[in-house]
Amino acid sequence: MTCRPGRIMAHAHSSRIQEFIGDPVSDSPELDRGKLEEIFQDIQADIRFDHELNGCLNCGICTATCPAAHYYDFSPREIVQLLWTENLEGIYDAMQEKIWACAQCYTCAARCPFDNSPGGLIMLMREAAIKHGMESAKNVLRPFSRVMLKLISTGNQLSPDMITADSFPDWGPNISKVDAPLKILRQAIPIPTLNTTATAWEVNLTTSVELYTIWEETGVLDQLETIDENLFDVILDIMDEKREDLEDWEDEQD
Ligand code: SF4
Ligand code: SF4
Repeated sequence: MTCRPGRIMAHAHSSRIQEFIGDPVSDSPELDRGKLEEIFQDIQADIRFDHELNGCLNCGICTATCPAAHYYDFSPREIVQLLWTENLEGIYDAMQEKIWACAQCYTCAARCPFDNSPGGLIMLMREAAIKHGMESAKNVLRPFSRVMLKLISTGNQLSPDMITADSFPDWGPNISKVDAPLKILRQAIPIPTLNTTATAWEVNLTTSVELYTIWEETGVLDQLETIDENLFDVILDIMDEKREDLEDWEDEQD
């Protein structure tokens, strides 16, 4: 199958009877067709979509080389086929769980004879899941709220004080190494911006405030509000505080 199907068509995947009565033997609530189309249009409208989906032979090379496919009920070939055939119900269904299995290693993109990027397409689906406030996105991101707080408020993803024995039990006997006197060890590094444990490196006020502008302008904060309102409020408070600190600092310089 190499020619691109037309753009999405209303009611292309359900009979007229199904539209009125749904599936009488299914326990699942009937999905709102307009919502499915809206989600797919968001995925399709992204500028990366046309670069990452060029056709699909259904050859399965991507799945054969995909590490996630070895461990989960997940196949990049299946995801690409859903997008290529514009199977709106299937796309929605995959967004409930399967898309979160991808490790974003892009082995699939390096192997695909059509120059598709299944990993890139999955990223677009994840972004759409966040935008539409899907439960799957909330569940996947919930354990990372501390990392998101650190990343958005400081630009650092992981700081030395977050590496504790309790947080990384899977490190086995090597975990004892993180019980070292981190503050003293960090002070010994001959680069002043690294003499901190609360961030991976010190981020100055101007940089932090510039980062906040980027998060706002690119819609990252809007996405965060959809996923975790409490975290969004905390981050807004931090941003206000740092913006005031910067203003005070600039006044002092004048
Ligand atoms: S490798 Fe490319 S053409 Fe083959 S199934 Fe995967 S996406 Fe389709
Ligand atoms: S990017 Fe995702 S889908 Fe592609 S090979 Fe890696 S884990 Fe599999």
